[in-house]
Amino acid sequence: MKKVHNFNAGPCILPDQAIENAIDALKDFAGTGMAVIEVSHRSKEWQAVMDECRALWKELLNIPDTHEVLFLGGGASMEFLYVAMNFLERKAAYLETGVWAKKALKEAKGLGEAYAIASSADSTYSYIPKGYEIPSDIDYLHITTNNTIYGTEIPYDMDCPVPLIADMSSDIMSRPVDVSKYALIYGGAQKNVGPAGVSFAIVRKDALGKVSRYIPTMLDYRTHIDGESMFNTPPVFPIFVMNETLKWLKGIGGVEAINRINKEKAALLYDEIDRNSMFTGTAAKEDRSIMNVCFVMAPGYENLQDEFMAFAKDRGMVGIKGHRSVGGFRASIYNACPKESVQALVDCMAEFEKLKKQ
Ligand SMILES: *Cc1c(COP(=O)(O)O)cnc(C)c1O
Repeated sequence: MKKVHNFNAGPCILPDQAIENAIDALKDFAGTGMAVIEVSHRSKEWQAVMDECRALWKELLNIPDTHEVLFLGGGASMEFLYVAMNFLERKAAYLETGVWAKKALKEAKGLGEAYAIASSADSTYSYIPKGYEIPSDIDYLHITTNNTIYGTEIPYDMDCPVPLIADMSSDIMSRPVDVSKYALIYGGAQKNVGPAGVSFAIVRKDALGKVSRYIPTMLDYRTHIDGESMFNTPPVFPIFVMNETLKWLKGIGGVEAINRINKEKAALLYDEIDRNSMFTGTAAKEDRSIMNVCFVMAPGYENLQDEFMAFAKDRGMVGIKGHRSVGGFRASIYNACPKESVQALVDCMAEFEKLKKQ
């Protein structure tokens, strides 16, 4: 079905199987004779999708009973506000590893005392700050496990003496996660688990109810726990596609299997970036993301940037332009991005080098 190599950063490539099943469900959903977007969200056919999707999240990420998984509207950006509303009482610390982290911090600052515990802003967020001390008197530490724009990642579950909250928008389901280490994991679906229009939250139930502020009904995670993510009309179509995406993931072996594949894809591309004299990576090697691979033309070849972009476009590469704050190139190689696409990009880079160095 795919005619191009899709490296879009988000919304991004989704499994063919999920798209095809979504098309079928638009024609006739579960034998109802109606499109999935035409049925009542209180129907038993829709309830089955919600139940299956919740169960898949729990199974794939091994979510313990202490936590609940929620599907919400508003995107990850709305969850920046949910975080502060539900968890900030006195003081919170944010690890500032990029623009998304900074935006999350901004929302918290509007509601209380929040600060950056460490920042890599000094070098365009090209690394993950280390060696900072986490005070024990804060309500939570907020981290962004994968920095979509800069291609850095915290690919492990850190030990944290205070409740740990993670924006995992762009690396959720790319690896196994020890959910028990987090008070909250949240993100938008549109990078690894589905289309835009739905976000997810995996929240530890006993971490809620500790703030004294009034929380508006829709911004209170407890509303959505009680309502089983259907307090109001849920974004049915995005949830349907998310469910199909997770079915695909389970079918290929789950998060352990996809993590192996993701590491192979990332190694393939980073090896070429390191080998090819015309390109250079922008993220610190020890912090390189397996989801977003950022690179620029090597010193001396900067003037060839547009030419390489056109060269790659001719060969079917889509979405490799770097974010405007970093420049250069970014290939997002999320779960659904096939290894053949990564190989095609690698071949394209090698071919370009050969052509220019003749
Ligand atoms: C894309 C992204 C966001 C913003 O997601 P929206 O759903 O568009 O609000 C937040 N954090 C990270 C890490 C992202 O990659």
